[in-house]
Amino acid sequence: MRSPSSRRIRRRAVLRDRDAGMIAGLEARLEAQAALIREQAASLAHSQKIFDRASAAARIGVWQCNLADQALLWTDVVYDLFDLPRDAALDRSEIVKCYTPASAAELHAKRSKGIAERTGFGLDAEIVTAKGNRRWIRITASVECEDGVAVRIFGMKQDITEEKILADQTRYLAEYDVMTGLANRSLFQSKLAELTAPSPDQPALGALLLVDLDGFKQINDTFGHIAGDECLKEVARRLEGACVGVDLVSRIGGDEFAVLVGPGLDLAKISELARDIIDRLGRPVGHGGRALKLGASIGIALYEECTPSELLVRADTALYAAKFAGRNTFRMFKATEMSGVRNPRAA
Ligand code: GH3
Ligand code: MG
Repeated sequence: MRSPSSRRIRRRAVLRDRDAGMIAGLEARLEAQAALIREQAASLAHSQKIFDRASAAARIGVWQCNLADQALLWTDVVYDLFDLPRDAALDRSEIVKCYTPASAAELHAKRSKGIAERTGFGLDAEIVTAKGNRRWIRITASVECEDGVAVRIFGMKQDITEEKILADQTRYLAEYDVMTGLANRSLFQSKLAELTAPSPDQPALGALLLVDLDGFKQINDTFGHIAGDECLKEVARRLEGACVGVDLVSRIGGDEFAVLVGPGLDLAKISELARDIIDRLGRPVGHGGRALKLGASIGIALYEECTPSELLVRADTALYAAKFAGRNTFRMFKATEMSGVRNPRAA
């Protein structure tokens, strides 16, 4: 028969073995969990690296802003966009100062509306970076809500400077005459339609002046096309000098220019402007040591109740009348006086 003390010893040994087994099991489970966490962390770091590389390659930055304290989180690309070191402190009120006033106003309006309506927002904004570089960035933002309350906004920022420059160049080529730098026929026609559109708060008076050089073919024939081109550039410069404050000066054809005068100038001032243009364009142009003789005729039509194309025909008819009257002069379209003028281009 065993004594009570030997039973106790045996019982303790059983308990010790059981605890050791439990601890070993626990350690094994913990080790397995730790391995899983390490694996997940490695996979997350790998995904993060791929994401960072993809975002850097595409030059797309990711950002986030907590609405409660305006704390910002940026990826490296956003720091680069603003030319800030990666360890720079991000103070939203300071960052906003990088935006040009127009872009800052647009950002403020779209951000407030996008948060209030939970729709997010997007815009192209111009910034001047910490190093003084001007850049255009495309911003997109989504709103994150908790219990129906907007708590965070996040999105992307991308450098679109090159795209913007290309778009500006394309627009310039579509709207401006490369040789003289004046508006081209297409921009002239849009502006003409805009100015002659009926508007209750705008008085009708305003005018279209068509300016055509006299005997310009002769300049080309005698002195060559390069001399002719120099004359056209000089004419453009002189027209701009005469037309300060008018709505548009454009080159709409070979040696033909159009001046759009908005409401504001009365008849006397419009005639004065036409005389001044004729005077300026009548002065010789210096080229290769020679003085090339120029001259111009002008046809004027006042904006009245007519379509832009009718207005153009009227000014052209008046121009034709000025040429017919001996050139180097202007005529104002008057239906009663010009019914007999045959304008071959109006046919
Ligand atoms: P008019 O007095 O009746 O206006 O006759 P014009 O000799 O001025 O000739 P017109 O206005 O009928 O024709 C314009 C000429 O301008 C035709 C062409 O030889 C010339 N021209 C058109 N475009 C250019 C250009 O880009 N450069 C040069 N150098 N000449 C041009
Ligand atoms: Mg001409």
